Amino acid sequence: MADEKVDILVAGAGAAGLSAAIALAQAGFSVACAGQIDRRANGRTVALFESSLRFYKALGLWPRLRDLAAPLAKIAMVDATNARFAAPSVTFAASEIGLAAFGANIENNVLVEELAQAARAALSLRECLIADIRFEPGGVDATLADGSRIRAALVVAADGRQSLVRSRAAIEARSWTYPQIAATALLAHEKPHRDISTEFHTRSGPCTLVPLRPRDGLAHRSSLVWLMSDAEAERRRALNDEALAGEIEDQVGGLLGAMALDGACGFFPMAGMSVSRLTGERVALVGEAAHLFPPLAAQGLNLSLRDVAALVQTVEDARSRGEDFGTLEALEPYAAARRGDISLRTNGVDLLNRSLLSEFAPVDLMRSAGFFAFAAIGPLRRALMREGVLTHGDLPRLMQPPPRRKTPSRAHA
Ligand SMILES: Cc1cc2nc3c(=O)[nH]c(=O)nc-3n(C[C@H](O)[C@H](O)[C@H](O)COP(=O)(O)OP(=O)(O)OC[C@H]3O[C@@H](n4cnc5c(N)ncnc54)[C@H](O)[C@@H]3O)c2cc1C
Repeated sequence: MADEKVDILVAGAGAAGLSAAIALAQAGFSVACAGQIDRRANGRTVALFESSLRFYKALGLWPRLRDLAAPLAKIAMVDATNARFAAPSVTFAASEIGLAAFGANIENNVLVEELAQAARAALSLRECLIADIRFEPGGVDATLADGSRIRAALVVAADGRQSLVRSRAAIEARSWTYPQIAATALLAHEKPHRDISTEFHTRSGPCTLVPLRPRDGLAHRSSLVWLMSDAEAERRRALNDEALAGEIEDQVGGLLGAMALDGACGFFPMAGMSVSRLTGERVALVGEAAHLFPPLAAQGLNLSLRDVAALVQTVEDARSRGEDFGTLEALEPYAAARRGDISLRTNGVDLLNRSLLSEFAPVDLMRSAGFFAFAAIGPLRRALMREGVLTHGDLPRLMQPPPRRKTPSRAHA
C-alpha cells in the first residue's frame, strides 16, 4: 500500500526537478517531489536567459529571484587560442534584439534553495532519494530510501545524469567524455563588470567571467567557468587561494583588476550524454536525466526549463481533453516538441568545444570565419542572439511573452 498517492511524482530535487514540480502543482496536479537538495556552495552559477526568466515570472517566482541575480546586458567573446587564423572579438548586446538584458546570473545553491522553499509551500517535497521504482499498469510505485512509498500516474525523471528512473524505464543513454575539467569559482574583483560576461576561447576550452550581484561589502563580483586539461586542473586544485586567483587574473588579462576567491571552488569533469527516447509509458525525462553537454554558452538549465515548460503544456492539454496524461501516447507531443531543440544544443556545443580543442588549421579557419561573420554581419549576429536566448520555433505557453496591455483609445481615455 502506498503511503502517498499523487498525480505526478517528480524524481530529483535539483533546479530542473524543483521547477517541474512547482509548475505542475501550479497547473493543478497533485505532486510529490523526492530527492536530495544540494546546498553546497561550489562556485557554480547559472546564467538564465530570457525564456527562462519568463518561465519563472509566469510561476510568480521571479520577484524572489530577481534581487539575487545579476543582469547580463552584453556577452563578449575573445579568441585566446593563439591560432594562426586569429578570430576577431565579438560583442553581443541585448539591446540589439530589443532586450534590456539577455538574462541573469545566479548561484546554483541560491536558486535551488529558493525553489525548494517555494516547493515546500506548494506540494509534497520529500528530501529523500528514491531507492527503487516499479512501472505497473496505470501507474508507478516508488520506494523512498526511508522506506515510504509513493504511487503516481506519471513519473518525471529529473534525477540527473545517472538517473535511476531512466534505467528502470529501460531508456538507453549514450555517454561520452571530453578531456576537460570545468573549474568554477566566485570572485571578488577590483573593477566593475558593467553587466558584461566575457568568454575567452582558449585551446583547452572557454574561460568565462559572468557578472554576479554585490554581497556583504563586496561591490564587484563575478563567477568563473574555466575549462582546462585534467593535468592543469590537478595542478590548480593544489594551489592556495591567492595563487589560483593570480592565475585567473593572468588568464583574463587583468580585465577586472585584482581578484580574490569568494568561497569554495569546484572541479567538474566534462561529459556528454544523449538518450534513445524522452518518454515511455508513465515516464517523461527532463533536465540532465535527458541531456548533458559541457557548459559552453550557458545552455544546460535553460534547455531543461524548456523541457519542463513543454511537459507541463503536454500533460495539461491531455487532461483538458479528458485523457490519461501518463500514457506513452499522451506524452508524444512532449517528445516531438523537444527532440530538435535538444539535439541542436547537444551537437552545437559539441562542435564548438571540439573546434577549440582542435589545432587542425582548416578547423581554426572555419571557426575564425564564423567569428568574422558574426562581428561584421548584423542580421546574422542578431539571429544568433535570438536563437541563444529564445530559441527558434514555438515556445511553450509558460515562456510566451506576457500579453501587451492595450493602450486605451482616445475615445475612452
Ligand atoms: C560548471 C557548470 C556551469 C554551468 N552553467 C550553466 C549556465 O550558466 N546556464 C545554464 O543554463 N546551465 C548551466 N549549467 C548546467 C546546469 O547547471 C545543469 O543543467 C543543471 O544544474 C542540472 O539540473 P538538473 O536538476 O537536471 O540536475 P541535477 O542538478 O544533477 O539534479 C539532479 C537531482 O536528482 C537527485 N537524484 C539523483 N538520484 C536520485 C534518486 N535516486 N532519487 C531521487 N533523486 C535523485 C539529486 O540528488 C539531485 O537533486 C552548468 C553546468 C556546469 C557543470
